[in-house]
Amino acid sequence: MRHQLLRKPLTWIGVGLLVLLVGSQFLNRPTQADQLTYAEFVTAVEEGKVKDATIDDGASTIEGTLTDGDEFRTAYVTEAGADVQTLLLDNGVSFEVDRAGQALWLSLIIELLPFVVIGAIFFVVMRSASGGTQASRFGRAKARQVAPDQPQVTFADVAGATEAVEELREIRDFLASPATFQAIGARIPRGVLLYGPPGTGKTLLARAVAGEAGVPVFSIAGADFVEMLVGVGASRVRDLFDQAKKAAPAIIFVDEIDAVGRHRGSGTGGGHDEREQTLNQLLVEMDGFDQRAGVILIAASNRPDILDPALLRPGRFDRQIVVDRPDLVGRRAILDVHSAGKPLGTDVDLDVLARRTPGFTGADLSNLVNEAALLTARRRAKQIGMAEMEDAVDRVMAGPERKSSVLSEEEKRVIAYHEGGHALVGHLLPNADPIHKVSVVARGRALGWTLALPTEDRHLQTRAALLDQLVMLLGGRTAEELVFGDPTTGAQDDIERATRIARAMVTEFGMTSAIGLQRVGRSPSGLSGGVDGDGPPSDHVASLVDAEVRRLLDDAHREAAAVLRAHRATLDQLAEALIERETLDTPELLQIFGHLPVWERHYEVTTP
Ligand code: ADP
Ligand code: MG
Ligand code: ZN
Repeated sequence: MRHQLLRKPLTWIGVGLLVLLVGSQFLNRPTQADQLTYAEFVTAVEEGKVKDATIDDGASTIEGTLTDGDEFRTAYVTEAGADVQTLLLDNGVSFEVDRAGQALWLSLIIELLPFVVIGAIFFVVMRSASGGTQASRFGRAKARQVAPDQPQVTFADVAGATEAVEELREIRDFLASPATFQAIGARIPRGVLLYGPPGTGKTLLARAVAGEAGVPVFSIAGADFVEMLVGVGASRVRDLFDQAKKAAPAIIFVDEIDAVGRHRGSGTGGGHDEREQTLNQLLVEMDGFDQRAGVILIAASNRPDILDPALLRPGRFDRQIVVDRPDLVGRRAILDVHSAGKPLGTDVDLDVLARRTPGFTGADLSNLVNEAALLTARRRAKQIGMAEMEDAVDRVMAGPERKSSVLSEEEKRVIAYHEGGHALVGHLLPNADPIHKVSVVARGRALGWTLALPTEDRHLQTRAALLDQLVMLLGGRTAEELVFGDPTTGAQDDIERATRIARAMVTEFGMTSAIGLQRVGRSPSGLSGGVDGDGPPSDHVASLVDAEVRRLLDDAHREAAAVLRAHRATLDQLAEALIERETLDTPELLQIFGHLPVWERHYEVTTP
């Protein structure tokens, strides 16, 4: 449809006429007066710099004189007419309204309507082609000022995000009494970036901080900045900061900052230059504002990976808070929040619901309770029953809003055994880092994760530690093989990392007898180009390297299988606990496998 429209000659004629018309309008205007942007005009009025004004309601322009005698001229969009008058009235500026232009303007509109319509269609098409925001926003951009509001959300409305709330408490305390913090010279972050998947409560958290601190929040969505008119985005940023500074202590909240904050130079199409300007202005403002001003910028993003690195530099968003999908306990708490005040039947078991909804975000759960209430109403029942809740789970899972994947019971079992395998092997091997936390709650691309942390900073790795690390990496896949027989694709990342370590041991660290202490460059056709200074290996050495890498991985695989076979009962226990509780931390883990003796390696790698 897009292409057909562009090919129609009528479209082009229409656009041509439109351009001519708009152009001539501008040419006819007297230019001796200072041209102000609408934002400048508003500021001037608020600062009492405007002496009198004449509003031309027909042409949507304002002319007048400033207190210093200069004449000015500005334009506004028609819808803002009432706002302009209120503004002038509020600030005690004398003004008159000139309606003379109206009749002419009206007849002009009627005559030109067809062209305007064609132009508008063309505009919409161009906009969608360049991936911009809705065309309906066009032109309203300048007029819509961001108004502070006082949200009544508190931390109690946010459930299951304990870590994020902890971090934000500090920000709240600062905003509630900035003077206390300034007196002791504490450095408070200028910017806080909340990031995590959609629907996990980032917007909610930002509003809760404002509500708790009782300060105004100036909020704007990233997409609002990226407007069609060049320069509007940047001037909106300036306005936003000005307003917030006047109202300090205050919060500026930029929701979905990815829309403006995307890596510069990575966009395509129309909105791109404009976005860069807006981003630059944002950076300038962030650097420029005085920390004592008591203004904190909070931004939310679903995709921190695409943000411009300049935004994440120290002194800008120096506090970054992950807002993850809730685990079992979190989901239970969120269900509590959202079902409070709703008539629940006696058969409703929120624990069971929390267990049935792995992968659900806060938004999904809120949706779930709402769907259940709707179903109840439709069935003309008085109380929400478990049957309605269960049906609602299916609806939300199938619903169009769910973009992320929800785990089936079977998948969850596989992941529990996989992560259990990593954890158990990692714990038992004497040279692997201690296991800190294991989870089957998805984070980023990983469906589950096992966190092993070294007890101290390490600058050197021993061969024994690397060998144990290989075993631990392959422990996940090995557990799948042992328990289910048929392994899944879930080990892709583990295999990649293990291969990289094994190859480095052979070719860079001189840790095998077959290759010895020689450095082996990479073959040009291999995984990557040769390293400067060393040529490609001979065919003989290359195949030796491959054989050694293979042997290291095979040994690790066998070792992992031996560990897991010997402790199969504990592996089952661990997996059950993971299915049940989803995230296990150190004390819980030690309770399950803390009593087991250290593993003694079965397959020793021959020393050189
Ligand atoms: P995000 O900004 O991360 O996409 P929102 O803050 O807009 O998510 O969340 C949408 C809705 O989902 C919230 O208004 C709230 O009703 C519900 N919600 C999300 N997370 C939580 C949570 N942790 N506790 C309670 N409700 C939540
Ligand atoms: Mg949001
Ligand atoms: Zn794994």
